Amino acid sequence: MTELNSSPAPIRVRIAPSPTGDPHVGTAYIGLVNYLYARQRGGQFVLRIEDTDRARFVGTSEQMIFDALRWLGLAWDEGPDVGGPYGPYRQSERTEIYRKHAEMLLANGTAYRCFCTAEELEASRKQQMAAKLPPRYAGTCRALSAAQIEENLAAQKPFVIRMKVPTEGSTTFTDELRGEITFDHFNVDDQVLMKSDGFPTYHLANVVDDYLMQITDVIRAEEWISSTPKHVLLYQAFGWPIPRFWHMPLLRNLDKSKISKRKNPVSLVYYRQAGFLPEAVLNFLGLMGGGMPADINNATEKFTLAEMVEHFDVKNIRTAGPVFDLTKLKWLNGEYIRALAPADFYAALRSTVLSDTYLSEIAGLVQTRVETLGQFGDLTHFFFADNILPVQEVFLPKKRTLEETLAFAAEQLAVLEAVDWSTEALEPTLKKLGEEKQWSVKENFMLLRAIVTGGTMSPPLLESVIVFGKARTLDRMRRFLEAQKGQKK
Ligand code: GLU
Repeated sequence: MTELNSSPAPIRVRIAPSPTGDPHVGTAYIGLVNYLYARQRGGQFVLRIEDTDRARFVGTSEQMIFDALRWLGLAWDEGPDVGGPYGPYRQSERTEIYRKHAEMLLANGTAYRCFCTAEELEASRKQQMAAKLPPRYAGTCRALSAAQIEENLAAQKPFVIRMKVPTEGSTTFTDELRGEITFDHFNVDDQVLMKSDGFPTYHLANVVDDYLMQITDVIRAEEWISSTPKHVLLYQAFGWPIPRFWHMPLLRNLDKSKISKRKNPVSLVYYRQAGFLPEAVLNFLGLMGGGMPADINNATEKFTLAEMVEHFDVKNIRTAGPVFDLTKLKWLNGEYIRALAPADFYAALRSTVLSDTYLSEIAGLVQTRVETLGQFGDLTHFFFADNILPVQEVFLPKKRTLEETLAFAAEQLAVLEAVDWSTEALEPTLKKLGEEKQWSVKENFMLLRAIVTGGTMSPPLLESVIVFGKARTLDRMRRFLEAQKGQKK
């Protein structure tokens, strides 16, 4: 008989996305692996929102993360919206916890206050660059005396709290997929843990939360490997046990570079709005080196989430960067679509690209512009088509060269990527860009109209792109630019 008290700690994993924009396919990928790992072991899957970087915070992003993960069917057991015993699960609600923990490190000498000003840091960085040294904190405040610290505090000098990384030696940790990884301390900077605004950095908040939330396995993307030695040093500074680390390979574009919006749509909102089925997206992500045996279902590449839970095996995870091949995803999606019963296919259309909400919003844009109901399609086909590419006669303004037009279109894309998706925000943003680049309002809007609608006439442009959605509009603009690049060659 097994002794009850000898059973290992129950598995607890988490994903910790930052609400900095649209939910990313990478979040779904890492979410899927965490989900499978937890489900297979009867463990708990936690969703934590890491929103301490106020400069990059986007208010609508958190809800979009919830919606996208739910759409995919990756249900979490604990999180900001469902609660749980280790909450709050939103880091901005835990600042007091981090502050106390930073105090603990100050008290035990593993962290220190740094009063260096931005100018001082910049000057030292320049010196290091000139000497061809890796830029890192020079350590000026590491050895301040108690009296100097008191003096600075009394003078109300702003400070950050830094981690005191040993100057010699190295830190080794085990990556469950790669084996031992060692970082020489020379290459580990005295990381800022608390910023002068009282907010923690990612590193402190992440370690404190993983410990307090009793996370047993940190399964995240490999881009965090270089942060892990800092995290291990922090666990040691607190005297806490170190969780297992699994660094999943990064998704790659076809050319093997890290997946990026320039080469692939990366927003989950895009996939949903463009009519990908969640089953196909999950299946596709499951094929991404994510631990599925090659031969389940007699070597077909199609499997459901339940089958993935059954067959997932960490031994099958390959660390070579899996390629996110959109052509393959489309093929797989087509397979799923063809397998739907006709009524389900219709229901899928009606809940996405032909939903009541979408249709009624579009109807609202054209009612005053048609003489017969039959003309509805003439004015609105670009809302329903996927492949819209205007010809040069349509998109090129009379007085502009192709080159300057494409450059301006790229600028439009860049400003629209950063803007809130509302007419109030879109209009001044585009106009400001036009003024800066000396493009008339007419040229500016006609170009965008051509790219989005494929023509020179359309329902009101900005209202139309609002209804069409940010993710799909940006995708259309990127595809336009890509197609033009292809033609120029
Ligand atoms: N907040 C980090 C992110 O946005 C979490 C990384 C981790 O899992 O430790 O991906």
